[in-house]
Amino acid sequence: MDCRVLKKRKCIITQDYTNSHAAIDMVGDNYTLDDIIAHSDGIIDIIQDGYGNMKGSSGTLSYGNYIKINHQNGYYTLYAHLKNGLNLKKNQKINKGQIIGYMSDSGNAYGKHLHFEVWKENKRINPTEYLNKDLPFEEIKQQYQIGDIVTINGVYVSSKSQEKLRPLITEGEITKIIENVRNPYLLENGKIGWVNNDVIISKKEYKYLSNENYKGNSIVDALNEININSSYQYRKKLAKINDINNYQGTADQNLYLLNLLKQGKLKYE
Ligand SMILES: [Zn+2]
Repeated sequence: MDCRVLKKRKCIITQDYTNSHAAIDMVGDNYTLDDIIAHSDGIIDIIQDGYGNMKGSSGTLSYGNYIKINHQNGYYTLYAHLKNGLNLKKNQKINKGQIIGYMSDSGNAYGKHLHFEVWKENKRINPTEYLNKDLPFEEIKQQYQIGDIVTINGVYVSSKSQEKLRPLITEGEITKIIENVRNPYLLENGKIGWVNNDVIISKKEYKYLSNENYKGNSIVDALNEININSSYQYRKKLAKINDINNYQGTADQNLYLLNLLKQGKLKYE
């Protein structure tokens, strides 16, 4: 069958995906060996090298020499039992179709083959349908626009060039949307999912207003005391920065802003 993870693009499945084998095993056409190529663009998340055949091994040792690629869209692919001597390193950028290794029997293997897994977040899914298909992007709920303020909740943002992936920032502003590349998008639960290397997210630096000595109950007076514009329009702007999107000047909303101000926690730009 056609198969985009082998250089010659043909494979024979030797073991299917089951509950006890959350992967597919394959060899090349006519039971030959082949170079293994990356399913999609990504960054090497895990690379393990230097092992020979270890029948009966368990855990990650059972993979032998293997590579796990983070495709930065919530999906990962894993290629196991590779030939010793991988010429790649962790965090290295990988292109779709790039040779990443050669079929072998390192780890817990009974014959040379590729053991191929697809991970969605922390769970292995059936890779069969992706042998000739891009990984899905169903999670995309909404694409960000320039100027959107995003909160990044435990998801990594790729930085420029070969730098290590890192939790760059927790809050920032989308400053650039690039044509023809993947741009940042929202995952379920409001998480930001993926940020292209070329999309810059800059940390939004807020300053804070404070009027800790104010004893009254008027946001207008409290702002006036510290020489800050207290007009409705400006209060509406302050409200938005402080997470009130539907500011109408109600007593509750004004009290909320006033309390932030008294605590020195009223954000402004
Ligand atoms: Zn397998």
